[in-house]
Amino acid sequence: MSTTKYIFVTGGVTSSLGKGIISSSIAKLLVARGFSVTIQKLDPYINIDPGTLNPYEHGECFVTDDGAETDLDLGHYERFSNVPTSQANNVTTGVIYQSVITKERMGEYLGETVQVIPHITDEIKYRIKLLAHRIHYDFIITEIGGTVGDIESLPFIEAVRQLRWELGFNCVVVHLTLVPYLAAAGELKTKPTQHSVKTLLESGVQPDIIVCRTEKHLSEGIRNKIALFCNVSPSSVIECIDVESIYDVPMLMRKENLDLEILQKTQLPIDSQPDLTDWEQFLYAMKHPAGEVNIGLVGKYVELKDAYKSINESFIHAGTSNGVRVKVQSFHSEFINESNVAEKLGNLDGVLVAPGFGERGIEGKITAIRYVREHKIPFFGICLGMQCAVIEFGRNVLGFTDAHSTEFNKSTTHPVIDMMEIQKKISGMGGTMRLGSYPCKLKAGTRIMDIYKTENILERHRHRFEFNNDYLEVYRQAGMIPVGVNEKDNLIEIIELEGHPWFFGVQFHPEFKSTVARPHPLFVSFVKAAKDFAGR
Ligand code: GLN
Repeated sequence: MSTTKYIFVTGGVTSSLGKGIISSSIAKLLVARGFSVTIQKLDPYINIDPGTLNPYEHGECFVTDDGAETDLDLGHYERFSNVPTSQANNVTTGVIYQSVITKERMGEYLGETVQVIPHITDEIKYRIKLLAHRIHYDFIITEIGGTVGDIESLPFIEAVRQLRWELGFNCVVVHLTLVPYLAAAGELKTKPTQHSVKTLLESGVQPDIIVCRTEKHLSEGIRNKIALFCNVSPSSVIECIDVESIYDVPMLMRKENLDLEILQKTQLPIDSQPDLTDWEQFLYAMKHPAGEVNIGLVGKYVELKDAYKSINESFIHAGTSNGVRVKVQSFHSEFINESNVAEKLGNLDGVLVAPGFGERGIEGKITAIRYVREHKIPFFGICLGMQCAVIEFGRNVLGFTDAHSTEFNKSTTHPVIDMMEIQKKISGMGGTMRLGSYPCKLKAGTRIMDIYKTENILERHRHRFEFNNDYLEVYRQAGMIPVGVNEKDNLIEIIELEGHPWFFGVQFHPEFKSTVARPHPLFVSFVKAAKDFAGR
C-alpha cells in the first residue's frame, strides 16, 4: 500500500473515556491485517513533555527507546501493537510553540505576522506527517488529547479540519463519546453524543465513525438515532461496552467491525481477515489462570491508579505467560516501618519496589527490602528500588550505618548511590536525565543470562544516580553481585544477591518493554519465582 492513511481519534463528553485504548485497538486490528501502523498522541498542555509532571498530575511518564519522556498512552500503543514508539510520537502544545517561536527568532517567517492559523496549525500538520518521513506507514493514528470544546485543543482540531480537506478519503475521523445510562429513566441517553458531535462540527470537523462508550448495549433504535443526528451511517456507530480488561477491546472492536469501517472509508479492499490467533490465546490464558500469586508493590504513589501503569500491565503479561493471575497488592512506602513490615509483607509471594524520585517513603522501602532479603521472599527492585536495595545492603550487611544515596543525603559517609559524573554538569530539568535505551552486557554463566537467553541486552532508562563503583568490590565480596554492566560508561545496571531465591535490582525500566506479544523476561522470571515461592 503506498499512500499513508491518517486516522484521527478525538474524544467528547468527558475525559478518561479511553481514547488511548481505542487507538491502540485500531492499531492492533490493522497490524493483524498486515498493515504497518504507528500511533501518536497530541497533547494540548504547554509542558514540552510530561517528564516534569508529577505522577499525581499525569500518571506514569513512559520512556521510549530514543529517550523521550512521554504520555502513558504510548505505553498502551506499544503493548497492544508491539511496535516501538519514539520522540515523534508524542507532541505537546509546548513543542509546537517552541518550534514556531524558534523559527520566528531565526527569521524564518521574516516580514510575516506569526499566528495560530496558519503557523501553529502548519507546525501541527507537519508533526503529524513527520512520522511518515523516515519510515513508510500504511496508517498513522493520531490521538488528540483532551475533550472537544476545550479551548486548548482548538488548534489541533483545526489542523484535523485542514488535513481532512487535503487528504480526502485518505483520512478518517473517529470520535469517541459517552452514551450514559440514566438509571432513574431506565434509558441510554444520546444527547451528550449529539452535543459533542455538534461541538466538533462547529470546528468544521464531521466525524466519520462514532465510538460510543456505554455500560449497556445500544439498541438498533439508539444506533439509528445517533446516526441520524450525527450525520453518519448506522454501521458507523460503534458500541464500546464496558469490559473486564482493556485487552478485550480489540476483539470487541472487531466484533463491531470498526476495522472494516475504516478500510471502507479509506477505500481499501476488504479481502482478508485479521490474524488475531495469538491475541485470542493470550486472552484465553489471561482469563483461565491455573492459580494466583500475591505480589506486593511498594511505592509512594500507590493510591494512584495510573502511576505504575506499565508495571501493572507487565504483571498481567508475565502472569498470563506463567498461567497464573498476579494479584498486585499496593503498599504505601511511607507507612511501612519495622513494627508493621512483617504483618504487611509476610504473606506475599514476591515484592517489587518501585521507581521514584525524592526522599518521601525511602525508609519504608529500605525496611521492606530488609524484610524480603532476610525472609528470602522474591524481590525485584526497579531503578530507585534497586538503589534502595544497595543502600539497605550497605547499612544492614556491610555495617555502613549511614549508607545512602546522595539524592537524599549529600553528606553521608557512605554514598553507595551517587550522581552520575555526566549528570553533575547538568543544571536544567526536563529531558536531562539518562534517558532511553542503552546496552547492557550480562555476566556469562549467571542466572540473568538464563533469564534473557542472550548476553547483550538493550533496556530503557530514566535516572540521574547510579551505583557508586568505589563500593563494587566490597559489595561483590559480601554477595551482592553486579551481573549486568554498561561497559562503555562503566555503570552497574543489574545486581543479584547470592544465596537468595530471586533477588534482582535493575537500574533500568523493564516495564517499558513488556508487551502482550513479548512479556518481559525479567517479569516472567520474577512471577515464576513468586509461583515457586507460593508453592514451597
Ligand atoms: N531518583 C533516582 C535517580 O534519579 C531513581 C529514578 C527512578 O527510579 N526512575 O537515579
